Amino acid sequence: MNMTISGACVIDVRTSLPRHKTLKYGRRKLTDIRSAALHHSATKSGSPEAFAGYHVVTNGWPGIAYHFVIQKDGVIYWCNDPETISYHVGNSNRHALGICLVGDFRTQQPTAAQLDAANRLIQHLQVQIPTMKQVFGHQEYPGYAWKNCPAFPMGTFRTNYSQFLQKAVGKVDKPKQIPVAIKLNDELLAVTGFLQEGVSMLPVRAVANAAGGKVDWITATQDVRVNDIDLNETLIAGSAYAPARELATALRLKIEWDQATKTVKLKGCVTV
Ligand SMILES: [Zn+2]
Repeated sequence: MNMTISGACVIDVRTSLPRHKTLKYGRRKLTDIRSAALHHSATKSGSPEAFAGYHVVTNGWPGIAYHFVIQKDGVIYWCNDPETISYHVGNSNRHALGICLVGDFRTQQPTAAQLDAANRLIQHLQVQIPTMKQVFGHQEYPGYAWKNCPAFPMGTFRTNYSQFLQKAVGKVDKPKQIPVAIKLNDELLAVTGFLQEGVSMLPVRAVANAAGGKVDWITATQDVRVNDIDLNETLIAGSAYAPARELATALRLKIEWDQATKTVKLKGCVTV
């Protein structure tokens, strides 16, 4: 599994952690995983090595209970393959993936770095393991209502996680387009263009029509020509947009840019 997570540091300790000499955890398919289970370590500090040692030596388990451990500084330690059926939520182990945040949250708070890393980790895992639809606290699994783990409110955690996901989606989907007003001889046109990477892009047909230019659509090459001049246009939802300066040149108009009002001002003789 690819565990390169944008904005997070993941250290793979799967082969270096203490393991039981003879006992081995069972294996599952990734599609068996239905939820991420959040835990706290219930210790003020700690490390994957320390937890693994305790689980193996004291508890006599095959290896560390968790698939991932998140330190207070936000570093994520990858401790078990997700396919490992480790011991952390009893009867739900087969379908749960264990994530432990270091700290005793009965008296401490998770750090912002830990919570951010947890969000990034869960999002990354949900992409790789689409069946892992739920995020629960240890206490929310059947039979564990008595257990104060992870000892932070899961409702709040899930709300913050949804907001994190929305922001992440917004970053991907939202084009960096700032609307641009267009004036032709001081008259505001009803159409707008947009700024993209510092270049104003204007709707070719609407502006050319207003300025009395000739627009040709060359079907064979999917090209737009204005007054027989080829433009470096971009098609958006069936409309061609061209860089403002190119369009102005083709229409024999002068062009000014008003940064304060984000307006392209076109001036010249309009042929009707
Ligand atoms: Zn727990």
